[in-house]
Amino acid sequence: MTATALRHDWTLQEARDLFNLPFNDLLFRAQSVHREHFDPNEVQVSTLLSIKTGACPEDCKYCPQSGHYNTGLEKEKLLEIEKVVAEARAAKQKGASRFCMGAAWRSPSKKDMPYVLDMVKQVKSLGMETCMTLGMLKEEEARELADAGLDYYNHNLDTSEKYYNHIITTRTYQDRLDTLDNVRRAGMKVCCGGIMGMGEDEDDRVGLLVQLANLPQHPESVPVNMLVKVKGTPLEDVEDLEPFDFIRMIAVARIMMPASHVRLSAGREQMNEQMQAMCFLAGANSIFYGEKLLTTSNPEADADMQLFAKLGIRPEQRQQCATEAQEEEVLAEAVEYEATRHMFYDATRESA
Ligand code: SF4
Repeated sequence: MTATALRHDWTLQEARDLFNLPFNDLLFRAQSVHREHFDPNEVQVSTLLSIKTGACPEDCKYCPQSGHYNTGLEKEKLLEIEKVVAEARAAKQKGASRFCMGAAWRSPSKKDMPYVLDMVKQVKSLGMETCMTLGMLKEEEARELADAGLDYYNHNLDTSEKYYNHIITTRTYQDRLDTLDNVRRAGMKVCCGGIMGMGEDEDDRVGLLVQLANLPQHPESVPVNMLVKVKGTPLEDVEDLEPFDFIRMIAVARIMMPASHVRLSAGREQMNEQMQAMCFLAGANSIFYGEKLLTTSNPEADADMQLFAKLGIRPEQRQQCATEAQEEEVLAEAVEYEATRHMFYDATRESA
């Protein structure tokens, strides 16, 4: 089967037409495109650690980490390198191969850059892939991060250019596009997506996807977030998103960026299993676990493994490096365990 060619010339009307397809037609088309590029029963799993939390000078209206809003979030300074490396090592021991580090900054300061570069080098030296989100990057900073060994950079466009200033006023859409450009030119992989349910309309969702799909190169990873309404942020009372609109967004993203990983990201905890399953059917093939992923007795991770087992989904198998294979093995074992554990009698537990 010839795979659908990647396009970078999508028009708004073409994207609107996709959104307006009957739901079953849209899902069928998205799933067909998905199967041309990916194993439909594999989902990539990523992990995330906040290396600096809260007190961000930006005013993103959805974000509890913004210093403009009082959300009661506990602020944390930049984590010491030793702590970050210890977390990365612990994650590696549990089988993780990619370590994503996020800092609530407008952009990394001159003072913080050496620490961040050292973090990248040290995590990389554990044999792990590295990913960071640090805010806006200049060309020089992007190059330094790439030289230190950073593999992926996350920087979201959030919404359409038209709706953007309803959500953020402290930096422009063009600032974000410039950062993405700097990341690409430095040779790093791009993780870039948006957030649904911020009061935007369908044309804003269309606008965001056209913007992403028409970048010179599609982002390797496209996180699609559902707004988590946090008390104290300006969006705390925004109207709930219609779940079918979210699933449509996933499906249209899959069709327009057929070879990218479409990530079911923030807001997943609010989705029931059936909705997550429909998102996978629509072409989502990546999920984010929290920083406690892979540590023992993490109920969220357990629930994810159970859902994978119920759906016959495996963590994505990739062959790039030994550590990734190790990660997949650990996760695959967890899924296998969830699928079969009812067949075993646990002799370590006392009978009632
Ligand atoms: S830049 Fe990032 S951390 Fe800062 S307010 Fe916006 S989303 Fe939150």
